[in-house]
Amino acid sequence: MASIKKILLSAFLLVCITSCAQQTSNQKEMEDKISKSDEQWKHKLTEEEYQVLRKKGTERAFTGEFWNHHEKGIYICAGCQLELFSSETKFESGSGWPSFYDAISKDNVKIKKDVSFGMVREELVCSKCEGHLGHVFPDGPKPTGLRYCINSVSLDFKKL
Ligand code: FE
Repeated sequence: MASIKKILLSAFLLVCITSCAQQTSNQKEMEDKISKSDEQWKHKLTEEEYQVLRKKGTERAFTGEFWNHHEKGIYICAGCQLELFSSETKFESGSGWPSFYDAISKDNVKIKKDVSFGMVREELVCSKCEGHLGHVFPDGPKPTGLRYCINSVSLDFKKL
């Protein structure tokens, strides 16, 4: 009888510990995210950054700061400074937008289904501030075969 009690008590404690750990990790995720009102974003960003990052706009091809940029470094989110892409994975796509075959970490970007303009596309957003970055297409080079087609306006650059 005593051992059944012990088992039940252990099981109860395990459930408590697990749910507590889960809560902590959810809290951490919430803390890591940035949530601002539309007004706050308007105040923080330039008009161009606001239109692309918050309103899913697209800069005109061959006009951005980074489509023809070749320095070694890290491209970060212009909205929240989260590291997004390395110059190591940048390639010449010919599209007129900075293109990468991989993100710096799967945790730092998020893919969303985009059905605007009568097309089904994969929209890429920053996982920290949910800012619109661009789209992901399945016609990139090896090793991923992906093309992350990104607006220069959504990016800042940290030289290495
Ligand atoms: Fe961001």
